[in-house]
Amino acid sequence: MILTKEGFRKMTLKEALEYPSKEELVSLSLSVIEEQDTKLNAFIYVNKEAGTGIPIGIKDNINIHGLPTTCASRILKNYVATFDATVIKKLRKAGFAFVGKTNLDEFAMGASTEYSAFGPTRNPHDLERVAGGSSGGSAAAVASGEVIISLGSDTGGSIRQPAAFCGVVGFKPTYGLVSRYGLVAFASSLDQIGPIAKTVEDAALLMNIIAGRDEHDATTVNREIDFTKFIGRKINGLKIAVAKQSFSEGVEDGIKEKTEEFVRFIEQEGNEVDVVDIPELKYVVATYYIIAPAEVSSNLARFDGVKYGLRLSGKSLQDLYKNTRGSGFGEEVRRRILIGTFTLSAAYYDAYFEKAQKVRRLIANKLNELFETYDFIVTPTSPVTAFKVGSVSDPMVYYLMDIFTIPANLAGLPAISIPFGKVGHLPIGIQLMGPRFSDAKLLGFADCLFRTTHSQEVR
Ligand code: GLN
Repeated sequence: MILTKEGFRKMTLKEALEYPSKEELVSLSLSVIEEQDTKLNAFIYVNKEAGTGIPIGIKDNINIHGLPTTCASRILKNYVATFDATVIKKLRKAGFAFVGKTNLDEFAMGASTEYSAFGPTRNPHDLERVAGGSSGGSAAAVASGEVIISLGSDTGGSIRQPAAFCGVVGFKPTYGLVSRYGLVAFASSLDQIGPIAKTVEDAALLMNIIAGRDEHDATTVNREIDFTKFIGRKINGLKIAVAKQSFSEGVEDGIKEKTEEFVRFIEQEGNEVDVVDIPELKYVVATYYIIAPAEVSSNLARFDGVKYGLRLSGKSLQDLYKNTRGSGFGEEVRRRILIGTFTLSAAYYDAYFEKAQKVRRLIANKLNELFETYDFIVTPTSPVTAFKVGSVSDPMVYYLMDIFTIPANLAGLPAISIPFGKVGHLPIGIQLMGPRFSDAKLLGFADCLFRTTHSQEVR
């Protein structure tokens, strides 16, 4: 059985699991990476000694024992992980081969992978454009067929948005279903690891491997979920809310049109759709950009030039800290540390951080209330399609791109981005968001729609 490179590039996890020669898969993966990655830059590190198994790309903020974990930052440039993250342990046991660490925005802060100390990842659909972020490397690697599947992390959209930009599937599970042990913390109350895949079924198959209660992460929950339970079934008769804000100013016209087309499509499939105003969406970006930086200022305090990573000497210990952090962290990371330190300081805590926590609760309450009436909420994944590398300079413009993805993180909800055609030559993603622990049903519904649009068989 000899698989061609073309065949490998299109291969799903479902097929790979059944393929007898895992050795062949790894060597095909490494050769596709070698051929393509000088232009894509999806990988920060390629592991030529990956062994045999199903080739998977791992975002470079997840620790694999013996391999570098850089978080795309100068401050961790020479850091080699001393232990396996829980998800890595599980994948190892299930027969995966770690062919490389994928590129990201530094410490996962960003929406384009342009904030990587190793240069931006390019979009496989248009090399002049970004792959999205922060898990841009993981999305580009899957979309271009360098790997079968990959892992990303999602704090405010970092799995779903790059998946949308690259035309693949990205799933953020309910908070607490996947262990964060061994994931370099960005904003711990929002971070969640999840798959970026070629099909919804593949995402569900991977979830069955990586999910589960972990004694090393106290926020994990004890729930037995079969994520593939509704895969391959015809699911309809649902009540779906599409957020009115999907059609508001700031959303590209082409994306509005595709969202309308998607709404008609799910109606034709036998579901009922209402357009629902979610005024709280006005506040999600502001809320997130107070809470996330506050957690950053605390989580990134450990990178001090003493325990690990880069160290620049100084006349005093204070100087050593200043020199190391001042030159080790990039501009966006420093901006967030400063904002977070400011909003947590005694004089401003009530006005910013505490207020943001209250608004977070209001947003979560609103979404939970909607789920009393509706099964799922639909929005575009991103208000924009992949933009040109270097074309955005204002951080506010980046922040506003997260409007549709942030709510799921603030409320701990599962959400998936599935590809739904293109605007011009650029893929777009539609997001479906569900109540907490509706992951299996959400994947099932998304799978049904995905198969219909990609004309695969549905029972
Ligand atoms: N774009 C968002 C940010 O910059 C989300 C990042 C993420 O999910 N890791 O914070």
